[in-house]
Amino acid sequence: TKWVYTFGDGAAEGRAGDRNLLGGKGANLAEMCSLGLPVPPGFTITTEVCNAYYANGRTYPGALEANVVSALDHIGQITGRRFGDPSKLLLVSVRSGARASMPGMMDTVLNLGLNDETVEALAADSGDPRFAYDSYRRFIQMYSDVVMGLDHEVFEEILEDEKASLGHELDTELTAAEWQGVISLYKAKVEEELDKPFPQDPREQLWGAIGAVFSSWMNNRAITYRRLHDIPESWGTAVNVQAMVFGNMGDTSATGVAFTRNPSTGDRQLYGEFLVNAQGEDVVAGIRTPQNITEAARIAAGSDKPSLQKLMPDAFQAFVDISDRLEKHYRDMQDLEFTIERGKLWMLQTRSGKRTAKAALKIAVEMAKDGLITKEEAVARIDAASLDQLLHPTIDPKAARDVIGMGLPASPGAATGEIVFSSADAEDARAQGRKVILVRIETSPEDIHGMHAAEGILTTRGGMTSHAAVVARGMGKPCVSGAGSLRVDYKAGTLLSMGQTFRKGDIITIDGGNGQVLKGAVAMLQPELSGDFAAIMEWADAARRMKVRTNAETPLDARMARSFGAEGIGLCRTEHMFFDGARIVAMREMILADTEKDRRAALGKLLPMQRSDFLELFEIMAGLPVTIRLLDPPLHEFLPKTEAELAEVATAMNVSADKLRQRTEALHEFNPMLGHRGCRLAVSYPEIAEMQARAIFEAAVEAGRKAGALVVPEIMVPLVGLVKELEYVKARIDAVAQSVMQETGTKIDYLTGTMIELPRAAIRAHVIAEAAEFFSFGTNDLTQTTFGISRDDAASFLETYRQKGIIEQDPFVSLDIDGVGELVRIAAEKGKATRPDIKLGICGEHGGDPASIRFCEAVGLDYVSCSPYRVPIARLAAAQAAV
Ligand code: PEP
Ligand code: MG
Repeated sequence: TKWVYTFGDGAAEGRAGDRNLLGGKGANLAEMCSLGLPVPPGFTITTEVCNAYYANGRTYPGALEANVVSALDHIGQITGRRFGDPSKLLLVSVRSGARASMPGMMDTVLNLGLNDETVEALAADSGDPRFAYDSYRRFIQMYSDVVMGLDHEVFEEILEDEKASLGHELDTELTAAEWQGVISLYKAKVEEELDKPFPQDPREQLWGAIGAVFSSWMNNRAITYRRLHDIPESWGTAVNVQAMVFGNMGDTSATGVAFTRNPSTGDRQLYGEFLVNAQGEDVVAGIRTPQNITEAARIAAGSDKPSLQKLMPDAFQAFVDISDRLEKHYRDMQDLEFTIERGKLWMLQTRSGKRTAKAALKIAVEMAKDGLITKEEAVARIDAASLDQLLHPTIDPKAARDVIGMGLPASPGAATGEIVFSSADAEDARAQGRKVILVRIETSPEDIHGMHAAEGILTTRGGMTSHAAVVARGMGKPCVSGAGSLRVDYKAGTLLSMGQTFRKGDIITIDGGNGQVLKGAVAMLQPELSGDFAAIMEWADAARRMKVRTNAETPLDARMARSFGAEGIGLCRTEHMFFDGARIVAMREMILADTEKDRRAALGKLLPMQRSDFLELFEIMAGLPVTIRLLDPPLHEFLPKTEAELAEVATAMNVSADKLRQRTEALHEFNPMLGHRGCRLAVSYPEIAEMQARAIFEAAVEAGRKAGALVVPEIMVPLVGLVKELEYVKARIDAVAQSVMQETGTKIDYLTGTMIELPRAAIRAHVIAEAAEFFSFGTNDLTQTTFGISRDDAASFLETYRQKGIIEQDPFVSLDIDGVGELVRIAAEKGKATRPDIKLGICGEHGGDPASIRFCEAVGLDYVSCSPYRVPIARLAAAQAAV
């Protein structure tokens, strides 16, 4: 096995593609060398050594030592120096470098090879004793910290004391002799703390540093980082050893970091910082304020410190040329590290730069337009989920945040407004032109209007698929749900947070992107949907196979979704149409009716309202498919809750309030989500389904007449478990279709299908497909019933599960592919076996989640349906899944 790969002087044994073996840093150093760029010569010890080291009780492979010795010779040949030889002094840096970047997780040692003797050689070689002693004391400090485990703060203290007693303020004011004094104190401190002297043998130093890098792979910081970022332990880290170049050799030396484009805006401008007469860690340490690299950036920042462009024009020009070249070579925005030693530029690192969602769009689009990458590559490079950041107002990253509570990031975007505790107050305030945040313990369907009136919604109970979360996402309103540390007291009209009391009218801000609740108003940034965003969307549409529909029932949502590019409605939840003023009364009459006759009378009032709702949706969708689901929720959700409501319905129905109360109590269920809902309602009260079917068909006929084109409605029966349930309801629908066709003299094409949202339905899909022309996977209920956990309550313990590593993700957010996904796969296969042209879609919340969408592509669904604001994300994710 080859354990060590060398690079230097225009040649390298590795390449950029060897990232798995050499780590990101090592692979890119090799690549830069091969490109002929100025890279200090060095070598990379592979990640396989790291794995072997741990596999063999923290020992190295036998051949490693000899390999390292000859690799050091290789550096020596290029530089004309020898490691450990004071007469031809060679100093090195030792850095870790994993496959995936793990910033700050593992450490670096610079100036390695210095000791009491070689420091004199460095002083003589450089002609700058002050520089030599400064480098030595830095080395003692870093090495003791990283390798020997002595906290660097003990050295900072010594240095601060010395500066104070010498009357200096800055490190740069210390003379050579004064640094020598500091070195003695440092070495004495090491002996005192560790009972052994600071190592003088360069070889011992080198192996100490190599061992420290490999050991750091298993330190707590690294383990935690890996867990948070899904990096497998088996990847290991590489170690990079390189000849030192010095940015601290006086005023013609410098060190810095830069991005080839602005990482927050994406603007095509070199963006970075440097320090004169400094080593790498000074830039990050923040002790001195770094300077701008370009003149333009300096002027924009209003800085009076000279730019690199002004100060070292030759090195600057060389750096500009190299950054252009690297960006073209890697075909991506690069994050660079460099050092200038006495006017000569050296490259120490290049890698793809991290960037904001906005910058990612701009960079990808510009690179595709320049022909540097293809349109498909541009599409593949955008993190689909990050589009959420762009579709809503967001909190200005520069704004200060006074966090008063924390909940789940249930619906993205940020909103500011006065606190109100009821939907009625929200509507009143809205009518007066005031902006409010609706604060509730939890919301119910009756709060829809309050939610519409509010800028954002905050609940103290409920998970990512609680009513508030689902409805808010559908409306595109920011929502923080389940903020358990906050206490709402409706009676007192207060919101309590860690000793602070907020009242109705007080201003708060919620950040639905991270779940924070903030005190007061906070500065916002507005979304930008044309330009780069539109370009990426167009390219994504050309690349995807699956259609993207929306879950919408109001004209507002449907129009919004159309403007986001939805290709039809995949789920119209008709129950949401029954909460409006007059409708809820008629609805309650219908539910509370004792006889079929009374029920039909109440339904007769609802029919024209439903018909006009559907007509409007058909018109907005202009010929695109519209899937309408029959009434689904347990009836008691519609019942009067207050005495006043009860009285109102009693009057309308001409019965006593007492009688009504009894009927209400009779409808109570212990597990309503497993209760009398879905198609079970249609089986018990077929007249409800018949009314809805009639409304759909009559609206379709009318829409077709107006547009001069056929509308093909898709009628969806919810919560089917038995094929007979579906057959029973379908027979009613078909009968209504026959009547409407006869009455209107118009032929109606329509599809009848079902939701697959119970495990039984998935398992019996081949039988159910005999009666269903389409399946729509209701993965909210399917997750709920497969796991046997409540979508409204599970958030409380799922978070604990996540923290304890039992689940990785909330299965209501990202589809549980192994379990729930398996049922989807089975049902899709069985459905197709019975009916090869069956239409397959998904309309649970997962229809807007990129990882779940990838799965939908893999099992061959025809479309995904999601809330309006997730339509662009789904378009992009569907394209990424297809290419
Ligand atoms: C589902 O269960 O996934 C679904 C879409 O229906 P609802 O969320 O309305 O129960
Ligand atoms: Mg459902």
